[in-house]
Amino acid sequence: MRMQRWTKLENQGIPELKIEQNGAIVVGPLAIDGCAYKPVRIVTHAHQDHIVSLSKSYKNSGFVVATPETFAILRGLGLRVNSTKSLELKYDIPVTMYDAKFVFRKMNHIPGTAGVEVDLGGKRIAYTSDFRLEDSHIFENVDVLIIDATYGHPSYKRTWSRMHIVNKILHLIEEHDKNLWVYGYYGKAQGFMLLLREAGYREPIVLTRKMYGITAELESVGLSFGKYLQYESRESEELVKSNHSIIIDHAINFKHRKKRPGIHVLLTGWATKPVEILNEWHYRMSYSDHADYYDILEYVRLARPKTVIVDASRSSYARFMARAIENTLGIHALAMP
Ligand SMILES: [Zn+2]
Repeated sequence: MRMQRWTKLENQGIPELKIEQNGAIVVGPLAIDGCAYKPVRIVTHAHQDHIVSLSKSYKNSGFVVATPETFAILRGLGLRVNSTKSLELKYDIPVTMYDAKFVFRKMNHIPGTAGVEVDLGGKRIAYTSDFRLEDSHIFENVDVLIIDATYGHPSYKRTWSRMHIVNKILHLIEEHDKNLWVYGYYGKAQGFMLLLREAGYREPIVLTRKMYGITAELESVGLSFGKYLQYESRESEELVKSNHSIIIDHAINFKHRKKRPGIHVLLTGWATKPVEILNEWHYRMSYSDHADYYDILEYVRLARPKTVIVDASRSSYARFMARAIENTLGIHALAMP
């Protein structure tokens, strides 16, 4: 079955196009979000599963291309990106490298996330990267749309917004004389900070060391987070003593919550209800930077591509999602690898 579908894709005259087991999306001379020993490595955003084997790509590729914001996060993570091979590319500026013309478009995920549209031998191929439906670029009428389906199952249906969760958190801090710890992944946490400001929160936000470094790097390329302080700095100590501060740390440190006085909130995309109360002061809240199942279908419906490839290297629902796209929308779809 898969062979037959693959042949169908080749019959459309699409040049080299595949997703490798290691997550590399290969479009002609471009290796997107994985190492495939191609002249150009593209990094669509700074999440772990999209920056795999970056140092290998720096060794083996001529160029590593990403948005200024993505390079800022990579620097904040302490990765070596100051190589002369780094090429910063802003949104909406087409470039041609090794016979592939491509452009980055802004996707609503974490700061700096880019979807990529490639023109290769007259065929238009687009990769959404990770995205939320609202405020993301729609790649319309492309020959092949490669789409992320992290939450490509109907059990992931979110009828609440991220702002709903931000407001829940703001209520907690207003109602109690306790510091409020928020745990999230790098990038997600910075997006959360932007929403806190949008919701009107004006106090300085306290950030653990690496969170602080990433936020400072993002400010250096033009983002604005309001005032923030590094955890355990003298200025932050006073604020923390007031028992009314928001402290942001990496999701992995949620396991240390019992040793830390305060209220603790883990931001997670995997929750199936908005707020899960673990005990009086410990919560898991649903906060996702990804499209849910219905949003993915809606994206494909709006984009109207000839063929959809669902990225199976980053989702266990890719085959299910591809079938759903074919059955619901009547658009040729397959999962890869
Ligand atoms: Zn991501």
